[in-house]
This record gives sequence, structure tokens and C-alpha cells, in this order.
Amino acid sequence: MAQSEENAVAAEESNAEPESETALETARRQLERAAGLVDVNPGIIERLKHPTKVQRVAVPLKRDDGTVTVYTGYRSQHDDVRGPYKGGLRYHPNVTEDECVGLSMWMTWKCAVMDLPFGGGKGGIVVDPKDLSLGEKERLTRRFAEEVRDFVGPEKDIPAPDMGTDAQTMAWFMDAYSMQEGETQPGVVTGKPPVLGGSYGRAAAPGRSVAIIAREVIDHYEMDIEETTVAVQGFGSVGANAARILDDYGATIVAVSDVNGGIYDPDGLDTHAVPTHEEQPEGVMKYDSPAKISNEDLLELDVDVLIPAAIGDVITAENAEDVRADIVIEGANGPTTFAAAEILESNDVAVVPDILANAGGVTVSYFEWLQNINRRSWSLKRVNDELETAMLRAWDDVSDAKAEFDVTWRDAAYVVALSRIAEAKESRGLWP
Ligand code: GLU
Repeated sequence: MAQSEENAVAAEESNAEPESETALETARRQLERAAGLVDVNPGIIERLKHPTKVQRVAVPLKRDDGTVTVYTGYRSQHDDVRGPYKGGLRYHPNVTEDECVGLSMWMTWKCAVMDLPFGGGKGGIVVDPKDLSLGEKERLTRRFAEEVRDFVGPEKDIPAPDMGTDAQTMAWFMDAYSMQEGETQPGVVTGKPPVLGGSYGRAAAPGRSVAIIAREVIDHYEMDIEETTVAVQGFGSVGANAARILDDYGATIVAVSDVNGGIYDPDGLDTHAVPTHEEQPEGVMKYDSPAKISNEDLLELDVDVLIPAAIGDVITAENAEDVRADIVIEGANGPTTFAAAEILESNDVAVVPDILANAGGVTVSYFEWLQNINRRSWSLKRVNDELETAMLRAWDDVSDAKAEFDVTWRDAAYVVALSRIAEAKESRGLWP
């Protein structure tokens, strides 16, 4: 090949599509890497690479104009050795089967890190909820609940809110399921409105756990929270609650963003005054601040702590070198690709994984499930106190594994999760 042709090929390769990795690919690579650290039967690791079941359903919707649109929905059930499948339900145009499988694997580890008696599940519908009226969203949710009715249940598989769904979505799902069962079954979903058996504190719980873990990490690295600067990508339920609670702990939140971009104030934003997505959808950029920045620039700010809390795959091989934070706390599920995590590791950036940091959501889901079984309601104070205790216990378990194995925070969390899951699988055995 002539020199110029070679150069042309090289140029083409370097201009290749930006790294894109499905959640499933990331989850499998993380599992393979962590498997090398624990003394687990390889047959168990092999089983954990595959979801137990994946359901794909067609969800027909009669639109407000009388026409019919058919959407595709999924429910991935990864593993239930420790208890019923548990995990969110996502309405997003980029939902794929692989994404649901990868996210359901992360739920298995997340529940095990928290030592909850649940396995991992995740579902979704390929739809942009912004294109639906409230009535359409309700009909779509009810029909999806009907299509997956045989696979879910309070002892089988328990959905919860995720991207694009909320407490109202869970109320419709619970109502559709209960009507067909002939009895009210609040425990079929978590994240419901409190009037239907939803737990106080559930909506804020993922952000609260991100803040609790961030506080502990800051302390671990002997930093002073009053001197710590933080940037948060995403101002929905995870990002906004994490930012506001860290602000209350004394940290300086210098930047927050939503889908349209971010606001920046080196002296610190008043996070309680910036509208969350729930308070005013896409309202962050309307807030008066000294500077506006793009979502890309936010990830590269020179801050102590960076919290990606919007969507997956935002720190990639393309921008990981430019991350200047010392600590990354994963608020979203899967914000860091496998290749990016290796770059951050070699640059000594501590990355605290999603399966620990945002696990407050599923932990309060567990509290909600317990309240439903017992037909009792806990006060907000009790929920937050028990969440604090659960997060600190998981933090101690992961910190101990990190010290013992001398590995990254993610590997340490995987060691804790895999050890518990493997022990459960060994005791139950493989049948037949
Ligand atoms: N969707 C949340 C997560 O990714 C919560 C899952 C749940 O509460 O079941 O952790």
C-alpha cells in the first residue's frame, strides 16, 4: 500500500465513530475483570453473564387522534438467587434489549452490595414520553402491565421508577395489575405515591445515597467537605437531591446541568433555588447564574468531585483524559464506559460506582416492599435513618474489600456482590 493510502486509512480509523458501548458490554467486561479477583466457581460466573429470562412484548396504544402505534417493551430478569427480581422501568427512545439486560445485571450486583433479599431486573419501553399526552402515557403503562402480568408480582419481579417514569406511572401499573388479580397488590411495584403504600423518602433516596457516599468518600480521602467543590450533571431526581443534600452538608456546588446545558458559579450555586426537573422541566438554564456551560464542559471542570447523574455512557475513551475531578461518584447507572474507567484509573481518579452510590433508590424500595407486606407506613425520619444505616454498612463492606484486595472502588463493590451471590448459588446448587 502506498504511504499516502496508509495515512488515509490511519486518518479514517482515528476519525472513527466515537466509542459506543452498550450497557451489556460494559456490564460483562466489568464482571470478567472482577471475576479474576474472587475465588468463585467459574460456572457461576458463566451463569451470571446471561440473564435468566428476557421478555419482549408489543404494546399497542390508541393515540388521542384515534390512530394506533405499537411500541416495543422489554423486561430483563437477570438473576433471582437471593430473592425476587427487582429494578426499574424506563421509558426512553434509546431503550434496547441489550440495555435492559446490562441494567438488570447491575441491579443484581446493586441489591447484593446492599445485602437486600432481591435479584436484578430491568425493563423499558422504546418511547419518548415527551411525545405522549398524560392519557396516552397512562394507556401505554396499563397495556404494558397487562403484557408482562405473568412475569411480575410482589414475590416474582417488582418494577420501580427509572428514566421517564415516576410515582404516577407506578400507580397505573399497580392498578392495572391489581384489577386483573382481583385484589389490591401494592407490593407489585415500588416508588408509588405514599397514598397507595409508597414510601416516604423514596423519590429522594437515590440522590440522598449519592450524597451520603460522597460525604464518606470525601472523608476517606481526608478532604474537608466545607472546602470541596462539586459539579453535578443532571438535575432530575438523582442529581438535584444529591446536589441539594451535599450543599446542606457544606460542599460548594459550582455547576449543575440538565439536558439543555449547565450553569456555573465558582462561588457556589444556591441549589435549592435552581428548579429541579420535577419543579420546572428543563428549567436549569433559565436560572440566573454568572456563566453557562455545555454538558461536555461540565464533565471537564476542575472540581474535587464530579457527579454524572443524568444518562449512561457520558464519560468515554474520548473525554476521560480530560476529566479533572479527583473523585467521580456515579449517580446515573453506567455513566462510565469500561475503557474510560481504565483511563481514569491510570490517572488516579477515584470512581465510586453506581451499584453503591445510587443504591439508596432500591434500598428504600425494599423498605417500601416491607411496609406493603406489613401494611404499615414508616415516617420519613425512620426511612432516612434506616437508609443512612444501610448506606454506611455497605460503604464499610466495600471499603474493607478495597483495603483487602487493593483494587478500585468498582472492583471492591463487585467483590462484595459476587461473594454474596456465589455463596447463595453454591448453597442452592444447580438443578438438575
Ligand atoms: N431504577 C432504580 C435503580 O436503577 C431503582 C430500582 C428499584 O427501586 O427497584 O436503581
